Amino acid sequence: MCSRCCKAGFFVPLTLEDFEQWFSSGRYDLVVSAVELYGFEALKVGASSVYVVPKNRLGSCMYLSPDGRCTIHHQKPLVCRLFPLSYDLEEDVPTIHPWAKRNCPGLRSSSKFSDEEVEAARRVALALKHMDSTLPRIRAMREEAYRRLCSTAVEALAIRQRLSYTLCL
Ligand code: SF4
Repeated sequence: MCSRCCKAGFFVPLTLEDFEQWFSSGRYDLVVSAVELYGFEALKVGASSVYVVPKNRLGSCMYLSPDGRCTIHHQKPLVCRLFPLSYDLEEDVPTIHPWAKRNCPGLRSSSKFSDEEVEAARRVALALKHMDSTLPRIRAMREEAYRRLCSTAVEALAIRQRLSYTLCL
């Protein structure tokens, strides 16, 4: 993985499927860290708001390590797993991201995509198109993830306090 796309400053949109996968595997930190965007980015997918992966101050994805690895490789969003494949719902055909056509060195050697990947790209495109209908579920999931993270932190603090008290005796 050359990670150029992770540094290119794109907003990586998230779908309900990403949140469900993170939530069910206990990655509440990922659920909570998603950033909600309004305005142009949301309008591009036809929604009132959209959730994206957070970026660092240089514009790279926050989950990219300094040596160019994806630190959430096994939990990375669907869009990242499929990139540069996307899906044109109007034409009902799979497409390649225009940036990748110019910049993706891996594209030349792997321009074939499986039926499963094409189907997943279509699913993502549909999910983004109908983002508004999934926003209430995503928001509820984020609240619950936040609550669980907080209770874990409080529990950890209580254990630490008990331990230090025991050690002081
Ligand atoms: S989640 Fe991983 S693959 Fe996706 S943009 Fe970030 S570093 Fe790259």
